[in-house]
Amino acid sequence: MGGFREKLMRFMYGRYGTDHLYYFMFAIWLILAVVGLIVRHPVFYIIGIVVMVLMIMRSMSKNIAQRRKENQFFLKFFNPVKREVLLLKDRIRDIRTARYRRCRHCKALIKLPKVTGKHTVRCPKCGEKFDVHIIF
Ligand SMILES: [Zn+2]
Repeated sequence: MGGFREKLMRFMYGRYGTDHLYYFMFAIWLILAVVGLIVRHPVFYIIGIVVMVLMIMRSMSKNIAQRRKENQFFLKFFNPVKREVLLLKDRIRDIRTARYRRCRHCKALIKLPKVTGKHTVRCPKCGEKFDVHIIF
C-alpha cells in the first residue's frame, strides 16, 4: 500500500522542515488571523497568507544551508528578547522577596534579597564590590 505517512516521508526527504523561525512565523500568522477576525480588514488576511506561504516554502526548501543561515540570523535577534522576557517573568514571580541588579563590572545579573535602602554588594561572579539602592 505504501500509505500516506510513507509518501509524506519520501516527499519530505532532503527538505528543510521546521525550525525556530518556522514556529515564530506560525505565531505571527496566528496573531494576524485573530486580529483579522476582530478588525475584519483584508490586509491582515493578505499578510497572513504571505507569512503562511513563506513558512511552507522554507520548510519544503532543499537549500538547507541557506535556511539554517536565515534561522541563525533570526535567533541573533530573537534570543536576547526571549532572555529579557524570561527575566521579566522571574522578576514578577520574585517581586515580594527579591530584586535583580546587574554587576557594574562584569554585567552579571545578581538576585538580591528585597531589603530596602543602600547596600554594598559583592558580585559572586567577579568578586568586585558595588553599591545598589533598593527603593521598594
Ligand atoms: Zn561582577
